Amino acid sequence: MLGMSKELYEEASKFLVGGVDSPVRAAVRPYPFFVKEGVGPYIITEDNEKLVDYVLGYGPLILGHANEAVKRRVIEQIERGWLYGTPTRVELELAKKVVSYVMPGGKVRFVNSGTEATMTAIRLARGFTGRNKIMKFDGCYHGAHDYVLVQAGSAASEYGVPNSRGVPPQVAALTVVAKYNDLESADRAAKAAGDDLAAIIVEPVIGNMGVIPPDREFLRGLREIADRYGSLLIFDEVITGFRLSMGGAQQYFGVKADIVTLGKIIGGGFPIGAVTARSEIMDLLSPRGPVFNAGTFNANPVTMSAGLATIETIEATDALSKASKAAKEIAEYAEAAFNGAASVNRVESMFQLFFTQRSVVSPDDARASDREKYAKFHELMRKYGVFVPPSQFESQFTSAVHDDEVILTTEEALRKAASELK
Ligand SMILES: *Cc1c(COP(=O)(O)O)cnc(C)c1O
Repeated sequence: MLGMSKELYEEASKFLVGGVDSPVRAAVRPYPFFVKEGVGPYIITEDNEKLVDYVLGYGPLILGHANEAVKRRVIEQIERGWLYGTPTRVELELAKKVVSYVMPGGKVRFVNSGTEATMTAIRLARGFTGRNKIMKFDGCYHGAHDYVLVQAGSAASEYGVPNSRGVPPQVAALTVVAKYNDLESADRAAKAAGDDLAAIIVEPVIGNMGVIPPDREFLRGLREIADRYGSLLIFDEVITGFRLSMGGAQQYFGVKADIVTLGKIIGGGFPIGAVTARSEIMDLLSPRGPVFNAGTFNANPVTMSAGLATIETIEATDALSKASKAAKEIAEYAEAAFNGAASVNRVESMFQLFFTQRSVVSPDDARASDREKYAKFHELMRKYGVFVPPSQFESQFTSAVHDDEVILTTEEALRKAASELK
């Protein structure tokens, strides 16, 4: 019904902060639309708009909405109850998959969000090395906890809160910040932290500043710096895991990390995070070791079932290359449609447009692009039936069900948006 989202938003604003529960959702102008259904590559709003979805829950839905195999497994699980507070078979099955693809010979701990995953990974790195400081990169987002809310991307960037109020300066002081794609900057930061550098944490492809791929030598250089300082290298693969390849960014770029954090895709659209590393590191976690982690909902069977069904479907259907192919076509079409007015970055099935004539190789380049124009682009695309992220500082994603028909609709929308934005 027309006007329904507006009505719901006004009421929600009385009960929810800004009418939402995560800040980027409020970036949709003039107010967030409410969604009542997701079907394959589409979402249906409360106002009965049918939109091709390139947000896909901000990354998890590599198979699109309401995938049949995932749905069936979740329902089967729910028939048998949904929380036991004990280990389950399905948790073991998902652990085997994750470890064999991402950290052969290692172990995994399932938690409930990417935020918990990076928090636990950093605690583990500190526990393992006996050191306190971490290095992160300007523009990289690793979730919403204190250690990493320093010059972060995603909504933290959009809202200009590089250091959130409420993060003690003593905590922020343990985080040294370097520039992405700048090894000299990373080297200086490592020097500053010296023999107190526990870990370097990085998004191997930045997905929270739009999309910014790493330079050829950048990830390799970080590996070398971590080794030189006796620090651990943490790849935050919450987005790139099971998206760039089955082995994620490590396999894609040929660089090994010591700890990998996962989330999003491995939960099939249900809440999840995971930490994986070689056993020597993982065995420091409780109950084996002195580094604490626990969670009522860790490895809850519904999430485990959805995650396992998702990974098995990817294995059986070539979902990653289908998603990548769709992204490639759309990115190329967008580049041509805007004819030099926009720059498009893409790595496999993640991509983003920036309204700038320069190529975007750093978070500073992303910030310097015309964000107001991007916001208009978002509005126009919605008018023509396509949901792209409302913020410049997010990635667009494709799924395995973004087929030719969907691509055609999108190209039509891009063509019209481009001609109106000139
Ligand atoms: C989304 C994201 C997180 C946080 O995950 P949540 O499940 O939202 O807590 C961490 N790191 C990266 C790279 C992400 O994209």
